[in-house]
Amino acid sequence: DGDYDLEEAYTVVSDNSFVPFEFVEDGELVGFDIELIKAIAEEAGFAIENDEIETTNFDGIIPGLQTGQFEIAIAGMSITEERAEVIDFSDPYYESGIAIGVLSDRDDINGLEDLDGKTVATRLGTTSGNYLREHVPGAEINEYEQMDQVYLAVENGSADAVMYDLPNIEYYIATEGNGRLKVVGDLYQAEDYGIGITAGNEDLVAAINDALATLKENGTYDEIYNKWFGDAE
Ligand code: GLN
Repeated sequence: DGDYDLEEAYTVVSDNSFVPFEFVEDGELVGFDIELIKAIAEEAGFAIENDEIETTNFDGIIPGLQTGQFEIAIAGMSITEERAEVIDFSDPYYESGIAIGVLSDRDDINGLEDLDGKTVATRLGTTSGNYLREHVPGAEINEYEQMDQVYLAVENGSADAVMYDLPNIEYYIATEGNGRLKVVGDLYQAEDYGIGITAGNEDLVAAINDALATLKENGTYDEIYNKWFGDAE
């Protein structure tokens, strides 16, 4: 809108398997994050390069932002101090946190304290893996590239539990997971999601934050939120 010095278009990347934030349905990339970043781009007045959001495994996103392969990432990415040293983050756009899931009929794991000596599945390069290494050193931690591999590991018994972002576990259980898993224990770490931006693009960060604030004020954020999480709140 003229207040900021922006490019006409930016390369945008997302994750490839993180329901309901970004996932492929009928060959199309859909989800809360996908709708939010499109609305932000429109509001801020920039295009998404090639009119297409690229996808990659989660652990490729931060390196890709650092090298400039991607300029903007929206991927349910938790804002952490460590990450904020190498990339920039927008203001928080979603309150999340990490939780534990186990097979529904299992009653021997009811919280973090029961994971000692157990095999826990999670995803490579994410906050849950770090949390487990720090808080449950006695667990065997199996990290996979994609979330369907993580859930499969729990469902086929090669892992005792999954530790992951609560909204993802809940949505999975309510959809594809079809009640085969349940959430146990607490929310172990509160986390905020932020949009990742290649370091040094101050105007782009400010334009994204302004657009996000506008979408929160004008009801667009709530509309997108209710579409994907309507019953969860
Ligand atoms: N929120 C988690 C993290 O940032 C995982 C996000 C994801 O799998 N897309 O580490």
